[in-house]
Amino acid sequence: MPKYVYDFSEGNKDMKDLLGGKGANLAEMTNMGLPVPPGFTITTEACLEFLERGGAAPEMLQEAGEHLGRLQETMGKSLGDAEDPLLVSVRSGAKFSMPGMMDTVLNLGLNDRSVEGLAAQTGGDVRFARDAYRRFIQMFGKIVMEVPAEAFEDALDEAKAARFDGAQDTDLDAEDLAALIERFKTIYRERTGEEFPQDPKDQLRLAIDAVFKSWNGKRARDYRRQNKISDDLGTAVNVVAMVFGNRGDDSGTGVAFTRDPASGERVPYGDYLPNAQGEDVVAGIRNTLKLAELERIDPDAYRGLMAVMDTLEKHYRDMCDIEFTIEKRKLWILQTRVGKRTAFAEWVMAADMLEEGLIDEDAALLRVDANRLEELFKRRVDAGGSSPIARGLNASPGAATGAVVFSADEAERWARDGAKVVLVRRETTPDDYHGMIASQGILTSAGGTNSHAAVVARGEGIPAVCGADQIRIDLDAAAFTAGGAVVREGDTITIDGFTGNVYVGELPLEESVLEKARAGDAAARSEKIWVAFERLMGIADARRRLRVRANADTPDQSANARERGAEGIGLCRTEHMFLGPERVAAVQQMIFAETPEEEHAAYEALLPLQRGDFVGIFRAMDGLPVTVRLLDPPLHEFLPDLTALSVEVALGQERGEDVSAKEAVLAKVRQLHEANPMLGLRGVRLGIVKPGLYAMQVRAIVEAACEVRTAGGDPKVEIMIPLVATAPELRQTRDELEPVATEILRREGVTLSHLEWGTMIELPRASMTAGEIAGAADFFSFGTNDLTQTAFGFSRDDIGKFVGLYEERKLVPANPFVTIDVPGVGRLMRIACDEGRAANDRLHLGICGEHGGDPASVGFCHDLGLDYVSCSPFRVETARLAAGQAAAGEYMSATA
Ligand code: PEP
Ligand code: MG
Repeated sequence: MPKYVYDFSEGNKDMKDLLGGKGANLAEMTNMGLPVPPGFTITTEACLEFLERGGAAPEMLQEAGEHLGRLQETMGKSLGDAEDPLLVSVRSGAKFSMPGMMDTVLNLGLNDRSVEGLAAQTGGDVRFARDAYRRFIQMFGKIVMEVPAEAFEDALDEAKAARFDGAQDTDLDAEDLAALIERFKTIYRERTGEEFPQDPKDQLRLAIDAVFKSWNGKRARDYRRQNKISDDLGTAVNVVAMVFGNRGDDSGTGVAFTRDPASGERVPYGDYLPNAQGEDVVAGIRNTLKLAELERIDPDAYRGLMAVMDTLEKHYRDMCDIEFTIEKRKLWILQTRVGKRTAFAEWVMAADMLEEGLIDEDAALLRVDANRLEELFKRRVDAGGSSPIARGLNASPGAATGAVVFSADEAERWARDGAKVVLVRRETTPDDYHGMIASQGILTSAGGTNSHAAVVARGEGIPAVCGADQIRIDLDAAAFTAGGAVVREGDTITIDGFTGNVYVGELPLEESVLEKARAGDAAARSEKIWVAFERLMGIADARRRLRVRANADTPDQSANARERGAEGIGLCRTEHMFLGPERVAAVQQMIFAETPEEEHAAYEALLPLQRGDFVGIFRAMDGLPVTVRLLDPPLHEFLPDLTALSVEVALGQERGEDVSAKEAVLAKVRQLHEANPMLGLRGVRLGIVKPGLYAMQVRAIVEAACEVRTAGGDPKVEIMIPLVATAPELRQTRDELEPVATEILRREGVTLSHLEWGTMIELPRASMTAGEIAGAADFFSFGTNDLTQTAFGFSRDDIGKFVGLYEERKLVPANPFVTIDVPGVGRLMRIACDEGRAANDRLHLGICGEHGGDPASVGFCHDLGLDYVSCSPFRVETARLAAGQAAAGEYMSATA
């Protein structure tokens, strides 16, 4: 029989799968001797079993009962006792922290009798005891029974207003609270159809059930999908003896980070709220104090907290975040975990900890998230002379500008229609998640740096300003006012998540420090983030086995890619070279040619234009390999649209105009029209049907290379033939083209240091016959866009309509056009690698589909032993980092 329940003393930090993150860390801290209130954890396995059988297993209930009994013994108190009651909190805690789930119910165990006991226990503090009880009914009602929060909040507001204008919750006296408790119980009864449960065992059972059920709530599922967390983990439940931060001014609660999670600086950081319980900090109910103020309020507790923080950081070798409570000057640690941080802070901290000797190079490298690297290149607001209309907390970095919307649903709807929006709310809740991730930025008028809005925005990389309390939102008028301005729904604002400023209108956004540093700006180069970036990228480059190339089609793109560290071009698509009026005219001439001479004339017109393009690219990539792909798309792409042209011809005919020229074009368009152009006359098939076309391209490439070589450069040329399915397609095409190149080199008297011929592997048949194809190839480059399309039979242009549903229903592990589908497409790649290498031991292998810039796919390419990945220029750093991490990760797991 599985063990369903663990005392804190029985676990450790490595048991996150079973105990969840919170439970595992509470156990670790208990065993480290830190001041953690006693408690126990019900496992994630119990959750999964609960969900499967639709209720709690009797064995689990029994075990939980035994642990509760032990907890009561340890504490010398029991739940519901009228003299000296034990109170507990019930907290969810999955392996990964998940804002979408039920979080915490405090003060469980209070009822009409034990509230008196609590008062007696706290020296006759009736007000305190009743406040705890009303909070419990409120939280239990809201979280466990899903009574709308406003029902209780409105009643609380009424009670405060009845007291005096502007009263806070702390201004309610014991009598007010007694009345409020009755009112809350009535609300509970009206909303749930049941009495508020008086038996603490019922309270506990219902709370545990609610935590388990919240694993499958919509918010939790949405969050998991967005963050690629498996649905099969389940959540644990932690039952912890209560300590109170709301027992007067010598008590309080807070959240602390061992380093600044926004900037990464090595300074303690956090919020403190005197005379309050933990939920108040997160919910932004009152404005918090900076952690540093605790030193003044309670120097002993502050020193104790600093010592715990130091111990935790050294123990975890990472930045920790901590929830703590001070009860009557005694410090309690309620939670710790390796803290979330901004993409910016993650680099600064990793580099600092490496310097400090806390971690080694590989660990530092693995500390940063390749998926978030692009954030570092984000822009900032260039405010110029504009003054902000409001200022809040700099909750999540980055700058955003967009139209104001006031609800998550609106944000989602506007964004779906293509608008850029900034979501403006008093504060956010997990229900707003879908709208938050659809927004460019988030602005709240309440809440601190650890409010829901701030935490989610940082996690998602969305700029956010929180707690801008000058802002007054009027939802009925769909407007807010601040600093004398009225801003209505749809008006544009700009928010600065680095400074917390809010501006009316669209302000210019400024480049990031990294972008500036890369451009050579000396001040930017001395900033910590650049120093950290260089240091860790240096480690990644030294570590990685994969080379990183870029997909670039122009000299500018090539130069940009090279600046970002590209070591060549893995895919130069030549189709754009056929665009522009002059070129389209020549291409059309080629398509319409009636005689070989006419076709030849068209090639002669195209040749110098193409050659000029290649010269620019070879110069930009001098000394590095450039893979040029011969034309791939079907020819009709260079002709007018069939429907539009048909309409034009019909209208012209109706008006009696001479449309004979247009009719000729229409006839050709019809002739070239294909039902499935993606599976049609494209790639090598085009080269076979129009051999002069590929020959012209090869001439342009090789003549350009000769020109650059003659001028003292070192072009390294790789000519790539696309969409090959059979070995003879490649063999015959190469046999026709190679002499064209040889002839030019002989004529020009030039020798190139590198000239190779290869193909893309982008069709399942090519993978399965790679051994044969390799006989005619110097290299393979995996075109995983087409390979995914053809392996799944999904149209890459239309999949957007249903891929979301597919991901949600787990019909695919992830969007296969983003991350390589390892079991299917990946297997085809592996077969092609193995059989290709076996047939030709000099074969080079690379990838040039979009996956070449996706960190998980880069990891897979590392495992396959490819020579390089190629990706769009702006993802070159991401790919370099991911490749370094793949190598470091492999080493760490091999030596672990
Ligand atoms: C591919 O298919 O992966 C590829 C790189 O080619 P394209 O996207 O141009 O079809
Ligand atoms: Mg392709």
